[in-house]
Amino acid sequence: MKIAVVGTGYVGLVTGTCLAETGNQVTCVDINENKVKMMQEGKLPIYEPGLELLFHRNIDQKRLLFTNVLADAITDAQIIFLALPTPPGGDGSADLSYVLGAAKDIAKIITDYKVIVTKSTVPVGTADKFTAVIKENTTVECAVVSNPEFLREGVAVEDFMKPDRVVVGTTDERARKLMGELYAPYVRQGNPVIFMDERSSELTKYAANSFLATKISFMNEVANLCELVGADVDMVRRGIGADNRIGNRFLFSGIGYGGSCFPKDVQALAKSAEENKYDFKILNSVMEVNEIQKKVLVQKLKKYYNGDLKGKKFGMWGLAFKPETDDIREAPALYIIDELLKEGATVSVFDPEGMQNVKALLGDKITYGQNAYDVVTDADALLIVTEWSVFRTPDFERLSGALKSKVIFDGRNLYDLQKMIDLGFYYNSIGRKIIS
Ligand code: NAD
Repeated sequence: MKIAVVGTGYVGLVTGTCLAETGNQVTCVDINENKVKMMQEGKLPIYEPGLELLFHRNIDQKRLLFTNVLADAITDAQIIFLALPTPPGGDGSADLSYVLGAAKDIAKIITDYKVIVTKSTVPVGTADKFTAVIKENTTVECAVVSNPEFLREGVAVEDFMKPDRVVVGTTDERARKLMGELYAPYVRQGNPVIFMDERSSELTKYAANSFLATKISFMNEVANLCELVGADVDMVRRGIGADNRIGNRFLFSGIGYGGSCFPKDVQALAKSAEENKYDFKILNSVMEVNEIQKKVLVQKLKKYYNGDLKGKKFGMWGLAFKPETDDIREAPALYIIDELLKEGATVSVFDPEGMQNVKALLGDKITYGQNAYDVVTDADALLIVTEWSVFRTPDFERLSGALKSKVIFDGRNLYDLQKMIDLGFYYNSIGRKIIS
């Protein structure tokens, strides 16, 4: 099939590459000229495990092309995917200007039937708004399909190639058939393509992300209570996760959810509920808990240093909002750095992939290490913020030698408590006993 992908960020580039991988002819279009130039030169603008191999293979086979001219991408395409940003607007609702702007631009170009598929996360009713914009600008017939994306950064290629499920929201029979054919190679193991109406599909994405965020905030509250009552959240997690009705995934407590999706999607769903005069109480609590949890590590530091962080030097491991990505959007690390700088502390950071993005944002407000041990040299404490595998089994002897004091504040519960006792560290993690 001939496919166009509009917007070549984390979702668009993975979508375009993975669709080319099953033999489709894909043209990706982006307004960012630098990005397009990079990709035309065969360079990946993002870090995503497994993407590079597929990217090069499909470019070499001329199944994957890049342009910044919309007409070049969409004129011959049967299906046009939109993977455009939907950032939070001023009031928390999703900003649809990119998506609806594209609707207008597309309508002015097309001359034959197109299936236009929204992969962006958009509120209920967007397909109707999109269709209205198309109709205002062309008489050409189109099907507007909602096909929310569930890929996770860090395992995006695997998620796209073998999705748990594909959700397709459309009431157009032709579009339904085409989408079924397009996705068939990805669900050969029997995972479902679930067809539904556009509104249910749009809400499915928000409900999924909000449910996952709820799990995170719930476990963070359990962790906070564990600290007060002397229980261990990791034990509680294992205890409840063994129950099939609960399941053992996504139950880790930490320093709050971040990234480009959960914060904005929970907020947008709450806003959508409010606009429909529904008080979605749980979502408001989920957001409130997350705001508190993002700062929990700083609260712990303040308590330890009797409220005075001035002049303290902290080494930080991890910047990306989660491991295996360079994405730092809404990363808890940024909130923690901001708070520490306000308190007069200095921060030195290391992250395997997120350094460049943070450097572009914070410049010389903080210092950047070449490796994990650089940043703890003469530091008052090590702060662990992202659970990259490389931080799981460090050289503790080297770490002890580099730190000014053997103090670790761990926002991701990476280490065994007994091990920390044996090594003689002060070790303060989330929802577990403090080792001192
Ligand atoms: P992104 O910011 O990484 O990428 C968006 C791209 O669109 C950028 O490259 C930008 O230059 C380009 N763009 C902006 N306006 C354009 C225009 N008019 N024409 C062509 N290109 C344009 O965003 P993302 O993370 O890929 O997210 C895209 C959508 O997918 C959002 O709605 C997001 O909520 C949703 N989503 C994201 C993820 C994720 O893990 N990142 C997962 C599922 C769903």
